[in-house]
This record gives sequence, C-alpha cells and structure tokens, in this order.
Amino acid sequence: MNIHEYQGKSILSSFGVAVQRGVVVDNSADTMAKAKQLQEETGSDWIVVKAQIHAGGRGKGTVTETGSHGVVLAKGIDHVQEKVDGILGGHLVTAQTSATGKKVNKVLLAEDVYYPGDSEPSEFYMSVLLDRGKGRNIIMYSPEGGMNIEEVAEKTPHLIFKEEIDPKVGIQGFQCRKVAFNLGLEGKAFKEMTRFVYALYKAYEGCDASLFEINPVLKTSDDRIIAVDAKVTLDNNSLFRHADYAEMRDTSEEDPIEVEAGEAGLNYVKLDGNVGCMVNGAGLAMATMDIIKLSGGEPANFLDVGGTADAKRVETAFRIILKDPSVKAILVNIFGGIVRCDRVAQGIVDAYRNIGELPVPLIVRLQGTNAEEAKQLIDNSGLQVHSVVLLQEAADKVKEVLN
Ligand code: GDP
Ligand code: MN
Repeated sequence: MNIHEYQGKSILSSFGVAVQRGVVVDNSADTMAKAKQLQEETGSDWIVVKAQIHAGGRGKGTVTETGSHGVVLAKGIDHVQEKVDGILGGHLVTAQTSATGKKVNKVLLAEDVYYPGDSEPSEFYMSVLLDRGKGRNIIMYSPEGGMNIEEVAEKTPHLIFKEEIDPKVGIQGFQCRKVAFNLGLEGKAFKEMTRFVYALYKAYEGCDASLFEINPVLKTSDDRIIAVDAKVTLDNNSLFRHADYAEMRDTSEEDPIEVEAGEAGLNYVKLDGNVGCMVNGAGLAMATMDIIKLSGGEPANFLDVGGTADAKRVETAFRIILKDPSVKAILVNIFGGIVRCDRVAQGIVDAYRNIGELPVPLIVRLQGTNAEEAKQLIDNSGLQVHSVVLLQEAADKVKEVLN
C-alpha cells in the first residue's frame, strides 16, 4: 500500500528519524491559519508548498490548470496563499502520472530547511528495500540525490552504493558509519547521518515497509541530516497488525476498478492492452498473459479469481473486466484441480446468462478434472463461446477474434 509523503514522514518521525516538519491543508480557506501555526512551531518564515499525490517527480511536474509546479517555495508567509491556490484542487502531471495527471486534494506546508546556516546544503538519495536476489534488505544510497535516480544509475552507476543487512544480526554501527563515509560527510553531519541511517532502518523493519525512498535526504547548511521527501510503501499483508497505518489508505489515489475488485476479493491489476483475462492462480495468470503477448496481443489486466471460481465470483469478475472500455475480447483460462471444471463451466454459463449479452467475444479454456464434461456443457449451452483445449489454441483464437 502506498501512502502520502506527509503520512510517511509521520511514521518516520515516530521512529526517531529527523524529518522536515509540516502541516497538511485540504481546504484553501485554512491556509493562513495553518501557515502561521507552522511558522510559530519552526520559527521559519519560508514555507515549501508540496502537492500530496501518490506519484513522484512533483517538483518538476506541472499543475494543468495553473502552470504551477507541484513543489514550490514561498519566500515569506505572505506568499503561501497564492502558492497553495496554484496547486490545491488542480491536476498535477508528472513523469510518473498519466497525461491527465492526478487531482491534488491535499497540500503539505513544510518548513524550508535548506539554508539556516552558512555551509552549502547537499541532497543525497537513500532507499531501503528488499533485494530479492540476495534475499536481504539493503540500504541503497548515493551522494547524487535530489534528482532523477534512474539517470544516476544509468550514467554514473559507481555513485550508487548498496549496504546489505544481515537479518540474523540486524543493522550494525559500522554499516551506518560506512554510509556516512561514502556520502563524504565529516564532523557533526557524519554523526547525524549514522544516527539517521540507523533510525531509518529500524523504522523500515518496525512498520513492515516494503519500500522507503527518501530523495532527498538533506544535509542542511548547519549540518543537520533531515528527510525532506518520503515515499513509503507498506506491506499489505502486515496491515492487520497496524490498524493506524491501514487507516492511511487513500482509495481516491487508486484505480477505481482495482478498488472494487479488491472489495470483491479478486486479485485484479489493470494493464494497458485489450484482452481481458480471467484465470485461477497467479502463476497460470502470468503464463496466460505471456502467451497472449507472444501471440501478438496485449493483456488488459491480470485477474486471479482464486480457488473457488463459482458462478458468483465468475460473474463479478466478468463485470469488473468489462468496466475497462479497452477490453475487446475475454480469455478465461481455468485449471480445475480442487475446483472441478464442470462447476466452473456452469459458473461461466450462469454468469453469462445473468449479465445478458457479453459485448465482446469470449474464449474459454478449461483443463484438469472433468474438462471433457465442462467443454460439453459449454458447447451445449447455446451461448456464443469459443471453447478451446490447448493454451496455444486459446491464444490463436484471441488473435483471430481481434482481427
Ligand atoms: P518530488 O519532486 O516529488 O520528488 O518532491 P520532493 O519532496 O523531493 O521535492 C522536490 C524538490 O523540492 C527537492 O528536490 C528540493 O530541491 C525542493 N525542496 C523540497 N523541500 C525544500 C525546502 O525546504 N527548501 C527548498 N529550498 N527546496 C526544497
Ligand atoms: Mn523527491
């Protein structure tokens, strides 16, 4: 589950990670009261206004309606209102959003932390994530922060460092010092960075995150180390033990069809193609998407109906797949192991009849227990269904109906 920057910062802060302080505004009329509150708390007159959407690249992104960037600095409290009004309620388009962008329902007013002292501030990159190849968490970091990290990885890969954490002993002091050293720090900033890295890693473990990406981690001009941005992804499977985090979910940031599918207990991910897929089991779903692609088609979705592909679930799955207007054909690929194929076939027939007319061709492949009975049941139903046996036949049929 993804959460907003302000929520990520509140989690980090609760684990002792130093973060840029801020207040959230969701209504333009509250702006000045909130800005004054922040000013009193921090003593800083410069305030950064930051769009809260589930996408990065906000600083370089543009609000369609006003032309404002998604992160802007108000050099004085008198400028905060106009900066907020340039962002709040608009649609922010960034390199990570669609062309229509994301509606900004909240902005974060944050203290300007860059120039309280005399030295030059520096921006670093730091993330914590699971390295699946190594089977361990790693801290990935770079002295080249603040900008596009993908570009750093491509052009100057030697400037990206990785520190592996051994799960048996956890993060060690020497590892934190190594990070601070590789980032070129000394004196007070060095000490602060070692503390920062330690707290950040403890937070990652403590909140059951699957990704932290802090870009930039800032060395201020008075040598403090602060998280200025926070992309936090939490592990959905751990939310049962973090009721307070579960409440942070913002479904308005998610794909509405995916939200509905989730409520129906279906594992659905929207994709860009035109062939709707209904499959049981995640592995078979992946294989089905592969074969569609190999045959020249593009899957419109990933959908795992799960072990109990009964009429009710199949019907819900059909309805969800059909909500996507780009779907031009549906391929059902079910392996009957525990669930018998004839039951699934009956489910498909019932669901089809309940929906009425399916607006797109339907190709069905059922394999496994009672596959023969299932095929007969479908062939005798009188419905417009292309029933096939082999996976390759299914893919060829999909291609044929699309042409
Ligand atoms: P992103 O573009 O979505 O990654 O949003 P960030 O939170 O990283 O902010 C984008 C950029 O805004 C940062 O890289 C900084 O250069 C700038 N920025 C953020 N906070 C401050 C601040 O307190 N003061 C100043 N001067 N710039 C800031
Ligand atoms: Mn950032």
